[in-house]
Amino acid sequence: MNQPLPKHITDIIKERNILRATKPADPRITTLSNEITQLIGKHRAEQWKAKLDQIGDHKKNSHTLWNTINYLSGKNPPSQPNTIVTFHDKPAMTPEQKASAFNKQFVNTIQHATKTTNRKVDKHTKALSSNPIHITATQVFDAISKSSNNNSTGPDHINIRHLKHLGPLAIQYLTAILNLAVNLNITPQIWKLAKIVPIPKPNKDPGIGTSYRPISLLSPIAKTLEKVLLPHITQNIPQTTHQHGFKALHSTTTALQRLTNQITQGFNQKPPPLRTIVVSLDLSKAFDTVNIHSLINKLHQTTVPTTIIKFIASYIKGRKGFTQYQNANSKPQQFKTGVPQGGVLSPTLFNLYTSDMPNPPAGVTLTSYADDMNPAASHQNYHIAEQLLQPYLHDIFNWTESNDLILNPDKSTATLFTPDTHEHNITLNLTINNTTIPTVKNPKILGLTLDPAFTFAEHAKITKEKADSSIKILKALTSTFWGKQKETLLATYKTIILPVIEYASTVWSPIISDTNLQKLQTTQNNALRIITGCTSDTNTQHLHKETKTLPLSNHLKLHASQLRQKSQLPTHPLHDLNRQTNCPRQKKETIFENWNGKTININNNSATPPTPDSTSENLKKIHTIAVEECIRSYKPNPILSQPAPDINQSEQSLPRKTRRILAQLRAGKSPILLSYMHAIDPTSHPSPTCPLCKSQEHTTQHLFSCPKINTTLTARELWNDPVAVAALLQQWDDALGAAGGGAGSSLT
Ligand SMILES: [Zn+2]
Repeated sequence: MNQPLPKHITDIIKERNILRATKPADPRITTLSNEITQLIGKHRAEQWKAKLDQIGDHKKNSHTLWNTINYLSGKNPPSQPNTIVTFHDKPAMTPEQKASAFNKQFVNTIQHATKTTNRKVDKHTKALSSNPIHITATQVFDAISKSSNNNSTGPDHINIRHLKHLGPLAIQYLTAILNLAVNLNITPQIWKLAKIVPIPKPNKDPGIGTSYRPISLLSPIAKTLEKVLLPHITQNIPQTTHQHGFKALHSTTTALQRLTNQITQGFNQKPPPLRTIVVSLDLSKAFDTVNIHSLINKLHQTTVPTTIIKFIASYIKGRKGFTQYQNANSKPQQFKTGVPQGGVLSPTLFNLYTSDMPNPPAGVTLTSYADDMNPAASHQNYHIAEQLLQPYLHDIFNWTESNDLILNPDKSTATLFTPDTHEHNITLNLTINNTTIPTVKNPKILGLTLDPAFTFAEHAKITKEKADSSIKILKALTSTFWGKQKETLLATYKTIILPVIEYASTVWSPIISDTNLQKLQTTQNNALRIITGCTSDTNTQHLHKETKTLPLSNHLKLHASQLRQKSQLPTHPLHDLNRQTNCPRQKKETIFENWNGKTININNNSATPPTPDSTSENLKKIHTIAVEECIRSYKPNPILSQPAPDINQSEQSLPRKTRRILAQLRAGKSPILLSYMHAIDPTSHPSPTCPLCKSQEHTTQHLFSCPKINTTLTARELWNDPVAVAALLQQWDDALGAAGGGAGSSLT
């Protein structure tokens, strides 16, 4: 991140330095210096935002961000070369030993018995006819430019940034290579090699091998080819409705909406309401245990073009991986099983692999996201729900056996959701392969913590703890060069912390109690206080106004309303939930079943079904309505006695310290005001009176009306012209300094 400044800034610096040397009295020197400060600030903020985008790609990994902040604040990365890492009780001392032991751990965890059918599958593949596939330069260019930036290089020492720099001629050349590879079915060995980097899992003992997870880096050229081939696969494999992973319009949220809809529908029935049992199945290392021959055999049953089947068959067979650790490289080892780690096609190939899972029988449902599979059954009598589920669990187990996947009964969970509190402590009797599945009260399904009474109280508690711990990041950031700008801090909050708070909120926000929502709101308030530098007693409305941030209730309502709107598209996976008949009782609200105005609804003209265009129009309208609703709820600003206007952008040129004081003054609560200091600590500050005129109270308004200060500005300029007010504050400082007043030099 500490790269040299861009040329447009260094040019101005040079210009100023020349001027300094030749005409030291030139007034332009000050102007140029100010400009340089502003440009550097802007440049740093942009760099930080780019960094945030990259972190966003890494599943909001706050671990990465901490490392960055420690680096920025000059703290050395933890020295590890001398740490001994133990693998199966055997210590590895040198980097070479560690790299080799990691490689054994990450490659070939499982080995399948060779099936007699393997040869038949290979023969079938070989006999496939080859119809030419034509990859265009535009496809290659698009695949490269849509890839997210990453500095890590693959085994070929190339990274995606290198490819982004290729000119049209080089792209054409690359396209020709990719066409040859697919059509002649030749895969360069380096495209079948993975560079594996061990990453320590957070809060685990770094001295044990299993505390690390592998990140596999592949050739960006091979990944580009995978990206180009992907649509040929997705369009030609069986579409299973239960699967929400890696499909257009689908997400963990759509999976959770479908699963939780079944639970809430049960709660909303006439007594006795339906109880729902949800089983969360644990498939260990599912992607890595896929049987390659079985997968190719399943590819044969699809309409994927034969040339591509042939290519994929050879691309996923005979792959190798080596581990790089502390600059040592292990020897490469062959993967005997699994779809390629880090591959673009892999999640979709996994979807194909699971597409022939047995369908749930009547009365049972299945919701999946990749290898996360959740069968569920509802009935007024939970014993009957158990009886409905049990045979299906048996079917699924048999299917995993014949597909070489490992289903762990003791790591799977079963939970009963019921309005009857007497049933919250019962133990369910469901088994997989004669082992009882543990009954748990708070399963975490796709990142959402559930509870038997379906209140999301536990989820709110866990989320708050997680969000609060990342607030430390914000605090740490304020003391770095990057954290001087309010905008940078706000962007960090919105990229790192808010996503934690709002995860799966469209499911829980219509249900959660006001008390629990308020707890999460408190976390946001604390973050906004750090961002603005406002005092701890500043009202929350002011904090939100200063940062143009919606309070959580408004923000979550906006999200809920937008998902509801999107689901009205006929192609949306939740479309049918819009058409459910209303439940007889109102116990649990959802975005589809809401009676308290929990969502903003824009009704489509029923004559014309919604289109992507009309939907995006409606989403914008919903946004506008949500913001207006929020603004209307705001009380007038105490300084202006009317709604506060937006803060003029010019404020961004002021130093953080000044901006903090301005934000405090706009709330009427700043330590530079004697009225404020007197109110919170009358012993140390016996008088609230202005030290200059000694006749009126020293308030925000008084800064503009004191007879001893000559100004034409009004309190409104705190918003309209912050730079001018900063100059006025300087004037106050000077006057107080001259009068020998205690509160002087507050700005320096
Ligand atoms: Zn005064």
